[in-house]
Amino acid sequence: MHLAQAIEREIRNAEIRKAKVKAEDQIYHLAYYDGLTNLPNRNLFSDKASAMLARLAESDAIAALYLVNLDRLPYINSTYGSGVGDRLIQQFSHRLSAYSNENCWLTRIEGCKFAFFNANVTDEESVQEFASQVIKLVIPPVTIDSLVFYLRLSIGICVYPAGGDSISKLLANAESTLSHTRYLWKNTCTYYTKEIEEAAVKRSVLETSLRTAIEKNELLLHYQPTVDLQSGALSGVEALVRWNHSEFGLLLPEKFIPLAQETGLIIDLGRWVLRQACRQAGLWHQAGYGSLSISVNISAIEFDQSQLISSISHVLAETGISPELLELEISESTLMRDAETSTQILQALKDMNVKIAMDNFGTGYSSLRYLKHFPIDILKIDRSLTHDIIIDPDSSEIIAAIIAMAKNLDLLVLATGIETKEQFDFLHHLRCDRAQGFLFSRPMIAQDMLHLLAQRKTGTLA
Ligand code: C2E
Ligand code: MG
Repeated sequence: MHLAQAIEREIRNAEIRKAKVKAEDQIYHLAYYDGLTNLPNRNLFSDKASAMLARLAESDAIAALYLVNLDRLPYINSTYGSGVGDRLIQQFSHRLSAYSNENCWLTRIEGCKFAFFNANVTDEESVQEFASQVIKLVIPPVTIDSLVFYLRLSIGICVYPAGGDSISKLLANAESTLSHTRYLWKNTCTYYTKEIEEAAVKRSVLETSLRTAIEKNELLLHYQPTVDLQSGALSGVEALVRWNHSEFGLLLPEKFIPLAQETGLIIDLGRWVLRQACRQAGLWHQAGYGSLSISVNISAIEFDQSQLISSISHVLAETGISPELLELEISESTLMRDAETSTQILQALKDMNVKIAMDNFGTGYSSLRYLKHFPIDILKIDRSLTHDIIIDPDSSEIIAAIIAMAKNLDLLVLATGIETKEQFDFLHHLRCDRAQGFLFSRPMIAQDMLHLLAQRKTGTLA
């Protein structure tokens, strides 16, 4: 072979070797780094943290795992598009990177979750100090194009070795702690404790059994009447779901509705409630109480699903109840996530002639500005507002203003949580239309409701 040919072949081989190394680097990068933020991914993080834990096991040093969640990202993605969401994640990860160093690694675990494995900490105080520094990172708002975002984060903290002796255990416990923190709805952190672990175990038992609760006939409805405040007549009934759990007994919605929402099981559960409530209302109508309305609570996830309309039409057709007698209760916070989209969905529901109530009105999201745009029929004032109307002049003024405004907008006002005669008199005086609360009746089973309806023929509830 000529020398020139040999040289050429050698050059070609070198190029192939170089390309191979480059490809290997790229494959390595893909396997161990996150494409959006360029941070190490969970695989690299777990490998490095496991190696560090093996070293720590030989001493009595501690380390802390911080699982950091950028809250409200699904909302931002659905409102402004995932492009904006991605840029927000990039800016957030850039801010977090300021605290990453050779003994404190940062990773993007998935979606809006990041983690720090911090081996710099020495005691409880330094663990807390680091969390406080991270929380401060979200104080300055983030600007994307001309949009300004105030970020909110939640942190779940798990300390080695008390909170787990392997990275998978620490991550799982930090995850349970984080889901606890996220319900607090503010920039805050929570530490892993045995109670949180027990709650997580119970949650997973509940989740497994919730999957089969409908088939096993474990769900049931209680009904709570609403009363016409001026005539004292019973105007309608709200269906409230309960779960007769084989191990934990009768559970109220607060124990399983959030779980049903997180797991998506709320769709099947909601369909079951709607069908069951309408069937029951049909029976009451046949028994001679033909004008009784039935209210059903619709969660945010149900409200978002495209089959909501068809599922309601289906149930109305199947049970034969008149659409005007079905009231859908949608909370103020659900409607205010994205007021424009909500208006469109509400309009589609209104076109079916069903009635719509804005539930839990006054619980934080000031929807006053939107009230006249939302095609709703009823305003349900939350019981947190009616609670203090007798003792607190501010509360009573607020309620008076809400009632006056609702009347202006031609909305029916329903005050909830009425427990005393004083509250009743006050609302009656303000000419509030309807009320609901323990003063009139607690939620009850269908059979007891029939007795109540029969009594009503000879008297009123108030
Ligand atoms: P909500 O729609 O605001 O329902 C009213 C809640 O207030 C009921 O609690 C009822 O028992 C309680 N309540 C009524 N009057 C009074 C009173 O005078 N004083 C006090 N302290 N409480 C009163 P419950 O049944 O535990 O339901 C809680 C929440 O769970 C409901 O709040 C609703 O948001 C949700 N929920 C209930 N059933 C369903 C359902 O079928 N689907 C969905 N998505 N959510 C449901
Ligand atoms: Mg309700």
